[in-house]
Amino acid sequence: MAKVVCVLYDDPVDGYPKSYARDDLPKIDKYPDGQTLPSPKAIDFAPGSMLGSVSGELGLRKYLESNGHTLVVTSSKDGPDSVLERELADAEVVISQPFFPAYLTAERIAKAPKLKLALTAGIGSDHVDLQAAMERNITVAEVTYCNSISVAEHVVMTTLALVRNYIPSYQWVMKGGWNIADCVARSYDVEGMHVGTVAAGRIGVAVLRRLKPFGTHLHYTDRHRLPEAVEKELGLTFHATREDMYRVCDVVTLNCPLHPETEHMINDQTLKFFKRGAYLVNTARGKLCDRDAIARALESGQLAGYGGDVWFPQPAPQDHPWRTMPHHGMTPHISGTSLSAQTRYAAGTREILECYFEGRPIRNEYLIVQGGALAGVGAHSYSKGNATGGSEEAAKFKKV
Ligand code: NDP
Repeated sequence: MAKVVCVLYDDPVDGYPKSYARDDLPKIDKYPDGQTLPSPKAIDFAPGSMLGSVSGELGLRKYLESNGHTLVVTSSKDGPDSVLERELADAEVVISQPFFPAYLTAERIAKAPKLKLALTAGIGSDHVDLQAAMERNITVAEVTYCNSISVAEHVVMTTLALVRNYIPSYQWVMKGGWNIADCVARSYDVEGMHVGTVAAGRIGVAVLRRLKPFGTHLHYTDRHRLPEAVEKELGLTFHATREDMYRVCDVVTLNCPLHPETEHMINDQTLKFFKRGAYLVNTARGKLCDRDAIARALESGQLAGYGGDVWFPQPAPQDHPWRTMPHHGMTPHISGTSLSAQTRYAAGTREILECYFEGRPIRNEYLIVQGGALAGVGAHSYSKGNATGGSEEAAKFKKV
């Protein structure tokens, strides 16, 4: 029987919710490309409840324990004294979320001789040293598409918030002011702007689709080109290089995975290609950007705004400059963990566990690494190597 270690974020400071703002979730039949939603044999949770925090346990306890497995759920994940570090010795499965990642570095993988499955309850498995996982023949799987649309909505929200200067205007209200000129001195319309995405995968295309009705000019760059019909439908301009796209865009959004090819792709050098006063929206991964180069670009005015929800490491230490840099619209990593998304990724996690324990194949679209190589979605979207370097800094975070 297996030990499953599940790292989840803490419950709300006021305690696990006893009731919710809404009584139901909209019914979604399938994802936009026709992929079916997670289909476990059963679920043991109420859709729309808080599943991603420690007490929610992703709704897995009954299922795992009734099959004789041990489930350890913890939010203690960083540093040598963490519960995760202690439990690794005999863990067969580690479940983690990108929002509050259990970094599985090569050192930690070496401390986990029984580890066979690293399961991401969400999308993006860069918190696992994929190179080390390949070398140890550990399967890495994630719940592809579970929160792609949730994130696309956050990108649109952040774009509008930055361009229209929403957050400072809201703050004037909270301060008791009526400072219209202060609010609008940095406020523009999105209409007519050139918006470009780095990567036109599930999130990137959903962002483009949602921004089209705003009367924008849409651009993208990717390793593979979209079908001509999609380019025509959305009126897209394809750019062979990222730099070509940056030159013409008022808003750039990053929607590619973090892997050695994309790490720090936004830096002092590449920021020079941006139009002065461009907005950058990143809900993909914090480490796509050089942290200090972003702060410098906001201070100099090269960027007019930066927003998103992803940081490196996570949780971001209190002195992380993105907390205090000017003109930012940052949140903690929340875009992919709305209550709606939690229901899908909890069901997807259960589906993957059922497949794993019953010896059935995990869906190809959920696979990142299998059999010692990149596989499934991983083979399409990632490059070999490791992007976890520096993750030990997460131990510097102190709860408030
Ligand atoms: P997809 O796999 O659908 O899309 C990823 C896209 O990135 C693919 O089109 C891939 O291109 C492209 N890509 C990979 N490398 C490069 C590169 N070097 N240059 C340009 N494009 C590249 O994934 P999703 O759209 O669902 O998610 C994308 C990322 O967003 C995730 O990997 C994750 O990091 C992040 N994410 C964040 C969440 C949050 O809560 N903030 C939640 C969900 C995801 P190709 O296929 O052509 O190789």
